[in-house]
Amino acid sequence: MRFKQADYYCSTSNKAYALKGLNIYKSLYVQSLINNSQSVKKRALEGLIRCSKKLGLSTKEYEKELGIKSEKVQKRPSILKNSLYNIRLGKGYVDFFFRYPLKSSDIRSSTLKSRSVYKKIYDIAGRLAIRAKSYRLRSIKRMRIGQYNSKTIRIVLEDTHPIRSKLTIIGNKLRIYLVPLSSPSDKSTSKRTKSKQTKKPKVPTIVTNASKVIVIDPGHGGKDTGAIGYKRKREKDIVLLIAKRVYQELKKRGFKVYLTRRGDYFVTLRNRTRMANRVKANLFLSIHANAAPNKKKYFSMKGLETFFLSPARSVRAKRIAALENRVDMKNLSYYSKNVFLNFINREKTILSNKLAIDVHRSILAKLRQKYSVKDGGVRPGPFWVLVGAQMPSILVEVGYITNPTEAMRLSNPLYQKYIAQGIAEGVQNYFLHTQSR
Ligand SMILES: [Zn+2]
Repeated sequence: MRFKQADYYCSTSNKAYALKGLNIYKSLYVQSLINNSQSVKKRALEGLIRCSKKLGLSTKEYEKELGIKSEKVQKRPSILKNSLYNIRLGKGYVDFFFRYPLKSSDIRSSTLKSRSVYKKIYDIAGRLAIRAKSYRLRSIKRMRIGQYNSKTIRIVLEDTHPIRSKLTIIGNKLRIYLVPLSSPSDKSTSKRTKSKQTKKPKVPTIVTNASKVIVIDPGHGGKDTGAIGYKRKREKDIVLLIAKRVYQELKKRGFKVYLTRRGDYFVTLRNRTRMANRVKANLFLSIHANAAPNKKKYFSMKGLETFFLSPARSVRAKRIAALENRVDMKNLSYYSKNVFLNFINREKTILSNKLAIDVHRSILAKLRQKYSVKDGGVRPGPFWVLVGAQMPSILVEVGYITNPTEAMRLSNPLYQKYIAQGIAEGVQNYFLHTQSR
């Protein structure tokens, strides 16, 4: 029994043994997610906590997953103690200097309009260490700074036109750019500014596609051909062609894009997500093509399916995952601490689900302009390639290469282009929907 083994390793005073025990608990934990077994999950998490403590590693994520409250309370006062001690006016921007580094979650923004006065309000956690003051600026009519309540500093920008401002945080400096109305730059933000006025206060962030990094992962490659379908078409070849088109489409939209492989060679699952983590990707998209389990089903099984990482609930998701996981399933101990911890992140699962929905919907809508395509749905699934990704990640099965019609379509440049455009459109929609992230 592996639990006994892990318990034993963790109970020794040998560090190498304790690490070994930790890794066994990790793999048990992953197994529990795949089999959706609550009791195994609980035992594995308890073991992970015990073993991590012994090794002096953080147990926070495990405790969160187990439902134990962490000592967050202690940290809070230091955030409230932050203070604004200096303001410097620059050309087209204003710099605010704080005692401690700021986080975007310390800042809330909102927009107000009354008659012909437009106001942009920034509420920042902290105290004003200088006198409240009003400024006249070149780019906007007025800027006021004051203590809104005991915990909040308020900055109000005022003008007779809607105000377009952007923020950046550099350590303990907050810079607000005041974009003149006539500025032709950045068409993409104008839409968002409009919709923002009707919404509740939001954490402001600068959203431009150029600041978003996306990693496209063409499945399989090299010795791993993936599925082989109608007319001996190989999954690894088809998904590479599609991935390259996705790359182009996303580039066109201004995103920063990387491919995990650019040719027909083998890349381990671990290295695919490693790369995504290294380039600090915002999204990870793995592209695959599906295959029916046997000849009898070559005609009946078809359609588009999109997966996000989660314990499999359906037999179907389990089957497809088993197929895609085949290559380096055995190397569970690979997963480093960080990589593994991220797997337990519930927020990431929610975002991945959202991403899956946006992308899936957009591909279907695009393809259906010209083709009739079966909607295989968005599903949770235990895909190893997604395990290591520290960012929202999905796996798209673009169609069944064992189905003659779909195999031919998937090899058709126009069909590939439509899929690529659909994916890019979906990514764009995802960022619009989750703007504040
Ligand atoms: Zn595949």
